[in-house]
Amino acid sequence: MDEPRNLSLDLALAEAKSDYAARNPASAAQHAAATGAMPGGNTRSVLFYDPFPLTFARGAGARLYDVDGHEYADFLGEYTAGLAGHSHPAIRAAIGRALDGGINLGSHNTFEARFAEAVTARFPSMEKVRFTNSGTEANLLALSTALAATRRHKVMVFRGGYHGAVFTFSGGPNINVPFDYVMGTYNDIAATLPLIEAHARDLAAVILEPMLGGGGCIAAEPAFLAALREATARHGIVLIFDEVMTSRLAPGGLQSVYGITPDLTTLGKYVGGGMSFGAFGGKDALMGLFDPRRPDALPHAGTFNNNVLTMAAGHAALTEVYTPQAAAQLNGFGTALRDRLNAAAMAADVAMQFTGIGSMIAVHMRRGPIRSPADAAGGNMVARDLLFFDLVRSGFWLARRGMMALSLPLTDKDADGLVAAVEEFASVRRPFLA
Ligand code: PMP
Repeated sequence: MDEPRNLSLDLALAEAKSDYAARNPASAAQHAAATGAMPGGNTRSVLFYDPFPLTFARGAGARLYDVDGHEYADFLGEYTAGLAGHSHPAIRAAIGRALDGGINLGSHNTFEARFAEAVTARFPSMEKVRFTNSGTEANLLALSTALAATRRHKVMVFRGGYHGAVFTFSGGPNINVPFDYVMGTYNDIAATLPLIEAHARDLAAVILEPMLGGGGCIAAEPAFLAALREATARHGIVLIFDEVMTSRLAPGGLQSVYGITPDLTTLGKYVGGGMSFGAFGGKDALMGLFDPRRPDALPHAGTFNNNVLTMAAGHAALTEVYTPQAAAQLNGFGTALRDRLNAAAMAADVAMQFTGIGSMIAVHMRRGPIRSPADAAGGNMVARDLLFFDLVRSGFWLARRGMMALSLPLTDKDADGLVAAVEEFASVRRPFLA
């Protein structure tokens, strides 16, 4: 039988959910109607939660408004893609200019090369870059490049990693691309290096996020990344950093903070200025395989790879909006906020902590160090759900799984409000957070 504390935590969550349902009839109706044409009313799995997800009517700056008329401070920032805020004027202007010139031109346009130049200037390990339409596709292309270049067939991934819709390694059901995977353990050199040695002759690539994003904002330990870099270089294995989320964490991406240069890097999310976006790039020796002037060039087509809306919005995002200075400022803001959230949890003496780097934050309802997805799985998920519903009730939007990604228009006042709401949660819900 459950302990009384857990029973009452379950009751508190049930109450929070019924309060949520009562406050959001228009979202409920929206979701019910959507089930007619989409399975479960959903076309993006991460967005679903019980009893039904919110539908937003609009956004402006760092504000969101749901279809029931509630206003939220947006601390989710579209899972890192909405870094610039909703309809940033510079990005809007760039898209407007692109539209004025006509879209779908059916050949090269004047936007793609200058955007590529901005990307390679910003992320020096990407000597050459190619564009895709999503982060998933960028990883598919990066891995396929590694297979083609090495003529090997195995790919090392890490338990708890996420590299897109068909690259989900969290242990649940999946429809992953059937590469021949070798499963490493994040931040565990002793478990991972022998695996690399054992499979070295067949390993085409090792792919990982330098900080697990969706997996709970768990940073790689420097020695772990260094060991992977050394072993992959020694065996001619292509080391791929998936920086789809983490490239925002420093002007040159998280790789620049660790001082480790991967062979290939993948990008996505905010880099496209909020439009559909992905990119893969790296060493000229690898990317050059796609040079169509070569008789043996690898093919990589894609109708929308150079679509002018993304090319224009992305260029504005990197050069006008998320400048290196803006990156430093936003990540400083995030570090200060995470420190305050952790101080609040400490002061209340509750089993709650906030992990991450800079502008990416995840909450875990447990004490002690979190170095791996297994550590994160030891948190109290019911208490985390309760925090989600309490924060939504207080007007703060975040991912159901407790992730936040800060956007540029957030203010100190927004941060103060979130800290106060978390303090209140820690005080009111304290009996559940032992
Ligand atoms: N890699 C990582 C690390 C991601 O977080 C995501 C998206 N959450 C992806 C790849 C996939 O990107 P997309 O959703 O654009 O396909």
